[in-house]
Amino acid sequence: MSDDIRKRMFDEMLQKTAFDDARNAAYAYADAALTRNVFPTPQALQDLARFDEPLPDTPGDARQILQQLDRYGSAATVAQIGGRYFGLVNGGVIPATLAVRWLTDFWDQNTPLYLASPIASRLEEVTEGWLRELFALPDSTVAGFVSGSSLSIFCGLAAARQRNFARLGWDINRRGFIDAPRLRVVASRQSHGTVSKAIALLGFGLDNVEWVPADAQGRIDTAAMPELDASSILVLQAGNVNSGAFDDFETLGQLARKAGAWVHVDGAFGLWAATAARLKHLTRGIELADSWSFDGHKTLNTPYDSGVIMCRDRDALVTALQASGAYITYSDHRDGMLHTPEMSRRSRICELWAALKYLGRSGVDELVYGLHLRALQFARELEQQGFEILNDVVFNQVLVACDNDALTTATIDSIQQSGECWVGGTQWRQRQVIRVSVCSWATTEADVTRSVRAFVEAREAARKT
Ligand SMILES: *Cc1c(COP(=O)(O)O)cnc(C)c1O
Repeated sequence: MSDDIRKRMFDEMLQKTAFDDARNAAYAYADAALTRNVFPTPQALQDLARFDEPLPDTPGDARQILQQLDRYGSAATVAQIGGRYFGLVNGGVIPATLAVRWLTDFWDQNTPLYLASPIASRLEEVTEGWLRELFALPDSTVAGFVSGSSLSIFCGLAAARQRNFARLGWDINRRGFIDAPRLRVVASRQSHGTVSKAIALLGFGLDNVEWVPADAQGRIDTAAMPELDASSILVLQAGNVNSGAFDDFETLGQLARKAGAWVHVDGAFGLWAATAARLKHLTRGIELADSWSFDGHKTLNTPYDSGVIMCRDRDALVTALQASGAYITYSDHRDGMLHTPEMSRRSRICELWAALKYLGRSGVDELVYGLHLRALQFARELEQQGFEILNDVVFNQVLVACDNDALTTATIDSIQQSGECWVGGTQWRQRQVIRVSVCSWATTEADVTRSVRAFVEAREAARKT
């Protein structure tokens, strides 16, 4: 690197003008995000063409780069931090955790080992204990901090695969699937797509899965369960991504324990029901499972990317995710990479730790229950306006339909174009439906009422076309 560019970088580090610019732009963004169109305007989308540039030959200017990104990038974001985004299952963000991210970005920590980041190691340990307590999981349970549930589901099923094979005297890491004894995977037809992805990545083969039908709410049909045995891995769900429904963990957990099967619970957003006194009944029996995956970045409203795998059998998890290298110095402290597939990771634990410390037990309860209350309000007000609600609103998800599929589809389009709020569509029991997911602390009663008005106006516009 030339002395010239190095000097500029030192200057930027010392003078902080680009950082000041970033802060000012971020503050302006935050203020606007609460009131602006939820989805980018057509103009903002068109302006994305500004980024279609050739790779520069020579170094650029930090402030100009930031300016371009703010001017044309900020406008082309989805206003996720406001209260009227109800697509996917995207949480909002707790301000304290954003502040923590800023500080920790300057730390630029890599967190595989205690020796690479003592602070991350300690916060992982502390947060692991808090989560075990909050979800009332068995004492032996350990946590791994990954990028999201896609990866934490993968980790849970990898631990299951490891343990079940080991009991059959088979070392899957060394010997792989060739000539291996057979393991069974049993999962609901209503499993999330990332469950299928993990099953495929781990080599089980989707055609080998015993898919169990689900009931009208999307819960696994307990009467249709095949007999489990010690080679089985059962995947259950806390929070169906459409209906928000919860499987019967108590009944199925007992069956699985009796049979010696491994149970993994995909609780990406729904496991948090366990932390709210008035919703806890939904997760009754989760402690009978062996592994649990959930996110910080959905229900808990941490920034991305925050996923957690919790596993009652530390050996199974660590062995499944093992890695080695002569230069890796493990310590007597917590070495985070033992619990994750990744080696290098940013210190994502800080935001999760901060969210729990900021909210405390009662704050988590209020956040989670608050999402449920707003979902109930949504359903109630939509029903009053003649929309049909297709699910029992047990958690934060509401499935909504108009008189026919065509009208529902046109209504979704019209809502999205309005910019008033954002919802997506899905198929539910052979019908086109509108899918509402209430996930942000920032969603107020007024936001819900305003969004319901947008639904009504969109349906009217759709009827006219
Ligand atoms: C979102 C979600 C996932 C995937 O989680 P990511 O954090 O997006 O990787 C898995 N299962 C369910 C039920 C989800 O809602």
